[in-house]
Amino acid sequence: MIKLDGKKVAAAQDEKMAQRVADLKDKGVTPGIAVILVGDNSASAVYVRNKQRRAEKLGMNSQLIHFQADVTEKELLEKIDELNHDPEIDGFLVQLPLPDHIDEDRVINAIDSKKDVDGFAPENVGHLWIGEPQTKPATAAGILMMLDYYDVDLDGKNVVIIGRSNIVGKPVAAMMLDKNATVTVAHSHTKNLKELAKTADVLVVAIGRAKMINKDYVKDGAVVIDVGMDRDENGKLCGDVDFDDVESTASMMTPVPGGVGPMTITALMDQVIEIAEKRANG
Ligand code: NAP
Repeated sequence: MIKLDGKKVAAAQDEKMAQRVADLKDKGVTPGIAVILVGDNSASAVYVRNKQRRAEKLGMNSQLIHFQADVTEKELLEKIDELNHDPEIDGFLVQLPLPDHIDEDRVINAIDSKKDVDGFAPENVGHLWIGEPQTKPATAAGILMMLDYYDVDLDGKNVVIIGRSNIVGKPVAAMMLDKNATVTVAHSHTKNLKELAKTADVLVVAIGRAKMINKDYVKDGAVVIDVGMDRDENGKLCGDVDFDDVESTASMMTPVPGGVGPMTITALMDQVIEIAEKRANG
């Protein structure tokens, strides 16, 4: 079984991305990313810090805008408007979840779709599904980047995706369809999930339930992508897939941690740099 090593792929991409940033700086353009964080959710703070560190490591401009949890929706929308018009910021995102008094949809919709590096705005979802992506949700883009690195050809393959969230399952489905895979999206109402999952040449699991997927769900030789970031009974970070149980059945599989996680930030940075490249080329 080949372990799909997200850290290794991310490091390889970082080298290329740092060079692209250097080339842009030679043309007088520094790629700029901003992240808006609201409140003190500790998981969100870790994600945001990791994004900032990576951007700085690559030589990009990185801005953190941190609001207290009681920020009004109006104040947040004003900041978004400011970033929409800031020529130095190529892309920005609002770290979710937001406090209950703020309407997440209204916030996402307020982001200029060209700077919506999370790819969550309805306009960008539409672009993605018609096969003309403008920006792509980073986790999904990172998964495709990882498969490409390991030469996993999706053409004609049966893909089963377990999980239909807007941030993972659905965008992965759109991107894999575009690569000519035959895609099935399963969820909590799916009947005979084990039998269905066993038809997959490539099984993508984004459920949020620790180690739910064991070898009974996996065809011999399948490629298994585990998006889950869960805690096991001892509080240790683990995925949705029981890695030890599936190891002898899968041909390739992502570990957790060290699989899809590092690819998400890589894909995000790649996207910001791509927008900056468009800016540099007028
Ligand atoms: P989500 O919005 O909660 O969606 C979970 C999906 O799983 C839903 O479609 C749900 O079905 C389905 N599901 C739940 N229980 C199921 C079951 N027993 N059988 C079949 N399907 C079931 O989750 P998400 O945001 O996509 O995240 C999924 C996991 O990925 C989480 O562990 C999250 O932390 C992780 N994640 C990791 C990254 C990363 O960068 N590594 C990024 C994003 C998310 P219904 O739609 O029917 O409810």
